[in-house]
Amino acid sequence: MVFDLRGGQLHAEAVPLAAIADAVGTPTYVYSETALRTAAEAFAAALTDVPAKQLMFAMKANPNAMVLRTLAGLGFGADIVSGGELALARRAGLAPQDIVYSGVGKTPAELAAALGAGIGRFNLELEREGEVLSALARARGRRAPALLRVNPHIDAHTHAKISTALADSKFGIGYGEAAAMYGRLAALPGLDMHGIAVHIGSQITDLAPLRASYRRIGQLLARLRAEGHRITHVDLGGGLGVSYRAGEPGADVAAYGTMVAQETRDWGVTLLFEPGRFIAARAGVLLTRVLWVKPGQPYPFVVVDAAMNDLARPALYDAWHDFAAVQPRRDRFVANIVGPVCESGDSFARARVVDRVEEGDLAVFHTAGAYGAAMASTYNARALVPEVWVEGDRFAVIADRVPAADLRPQRLPEWIASRDPAGPSLPALIP
Ligand SMILES: *Cc1c(COP(=O)(O)O)cnc(C)c1O
Repeated sequence: MVFDLRGGQLHAEAVPLAAIADAVGTPTYVYSETALRTAAEAFAAALTDVPAKQLMFAMKANPNAMVLRTLAGLGFGADIVSGGELALARRAGLAPQDIVYSGVGKTPAELAAALGAGIGRFNLELEREGEVLSALARARGRRAPALLRVNPHIDAHTHAKISTALADSKFGIGYGEAAAMYGRLAALPGLDMHGIAVHIGSQITDLAPLRASYRRIGQLLARLRAEGHRITHVDLGGGLGVSYRAGEPGADVAAYGTMVAQETRDWGVTLLFEPGRFIAARAGVLLTRVLWVKPGQPYPFVVVDAAMNDLARPALYDAWHDFAAVQPRRDRFVANIVGPVCESGDSFARARVVDRVEEGDLAVFHTAGAYGAAMASTYNARALVPEVWVEGDRFAVIADRVPAADLRPQRLPEWIASRDPAGPSLPALIP
């Protein structure tokens, strides 16, 4: 572990978290280069028996440029889901060939931008999207490389909000319709259809649903080939889960690799993988300070300076993040851990046994490197939370704390500002 007690003080690698809090303030995310690298290497190592593969980090889990660059150094491209992510990936230095574009609602403008950038492939979610992409590509004298995302109708046994392969899911093309639609898409002049994609959900720790979905994909692959299609790539998506709670197991990545090698042995394709959470979650903590300990019945409320706008997962998915003091006292107590936002949902833990903390203490929420800063907002006009990178005994701010007023300049309509030139106008206050 890289977020460990050393001399009674929680560190990120060799840096005391207290030193980061002094320099940067709280709340802040803190990432460990070593932890990120360790997870990425474990994922790659698990797939040594897969002869042809491309690893694409699902950057929606953590779109910070240092994260992308570090992973690029380990051979990872990026799975993007928006034009904004395309811009960030390009700015982080990723080659367009190493980008795959997923997502159910790509706009025509986003499709055109990605086509213009020359990205590696598009994972199509519906037939009309394929028709529009084909037309855009033709207009440029090109053919867009594309896979069809298939919904295998498998229950991933994960939280409802991160399941994507139930029959009523918005994602992918139903297993039963996929072959016919693939045929129509492959006939379009502006598309180079060359395979299929699947992604059944996130935080999956039981390999059985993944195996079942890959099996269905294998059957579809055989059928498409029998119908004369040239299939060179299959994208197996992401979804591997991690342990968020001491004592609860995460996904066994080595077993996953063995399962993939078995299930895909005869496919004869290049496999794509889109892990997000598995790579980034354990590489980050959210560092926070205890503002108040408010008496409560039956348990006190520990009010920390981090909130649901900084780490949304507990409010969104009832997610668990282990909470730990940076300088633990010896004892523990039962408490509710809550943030300052004016929502009852702004709660990180209910009636949980945690390190005893007092006013002014520093603490962390563990396993916050994925879907943490990536989901941050400025709700309650709170600042956008910063991010800090740690390598050994060095640290640096890699994303600034941005006050809400700076992030989203507001202005008065011109006809109102001009009617009252003497009065204070917002554009004058906030350029
Ligand atoms: C979110 C997503 C991923 C990554 O999921 P993780 O659970 O973070 O691994 C991969 N592929 C697609 C299409 C996604 O939407």
